[in-house]
Amino acid sequence: MQHTGIVFDIIKYSVHDGPGIRTTVFLKGCPLDCIWCHNPESKKLEPETTTKITRNKVLKLSYSETKDVVGREVTVDEIINEVFKDRMFYEQSGGGVTFSGGEPLMQPKFLKELLLKCKEQDIHTAVDTSGYASKEAFELIIPYTDLFLFDLKIISETEHKKYTGVSNKLILRNLIFLSEAAKKIRIRIPLIPEITDTETNLGQIAEFLSKLKNIFNVDLLPYNELSEGKNKKFNSKAQLENLKMQSDESLDKIKKTFEPLGVEITIRG
Ligand code: SF4
Repeated sequence: MQHTGIVFDIIKYSVHDGPGIRTTVFLKGCPLDCIWCHNPESKKLEPETTTKITRNKVLKLSYSETKDVVGREVTVDEIINEVFKDRMFYEQSGGGVTFSGGEPLMQPKFLKELLLKCKEQDIHTAVDTSGYASKEAFELIIPYTDLFLFDLKIISETEHKKYTGVSNKLILRNLIFLSEAAKKIRIRIPLIPEITDTETNLGQIAEFLSKLKNIFNVDLLPYNELSEGKNKKFNSKAQLENLKMQSDESLDKIKKTFEPLGVEITIRG
């Protein structure tokens, strides 16, 4: 059966979303509402129109408005044809395709079809997930996913609800499930100043991970000040302002928290 789904971006030659050179496909829709979200265009499942207002640079008296539609319904074959165009790069670099979002597991059947077609052609597959999806959705895609990029944000249930709008119980349960299903997992931790980057939270994440199998990497993602402007464009809550990216010194300290795990730790700039 030919499924369709909603996709809002495709990035080629990505080197941050798994091994080698990759194509990253962004599926629309996310059940979380993180206050630091740098992809506000990803949250709604359906395509949406955004408005960009530009001030007239000469007189500064008038404004122009441009409307962009974000997201489009596409077939599995449309995406696969695009992905296959770069298979030579995947083969040479040990790369492949990454499905990201939003939360790609919000469209589980579409995602499964995409993964299946890639595996039929022996293309390496990765899924970048918040972990907030049903166990059944994970079971559907596990056989066709080589690597999970799993975002882990906050261990405290109360804090998680406060900053992402949802409980983390399902997320932690799914991470344990994936670990036991012997899937290769790369943990990604967004470092949001005074929210996720506290000594207490990072210590609790390291402690949680120490009990799991099949964790091969921990990626530390420093806060990106540039995302604030993008949040405003999409009229999202944009509650975070004037926060600064972590210093090299504090990133080194954070890295040490995870060294006892004995896995590869990467700091992404
Ligand atoms: S999980 Fe990611 S895409 Fe979803 S709201 Fe949080 S930061 Fe945004």
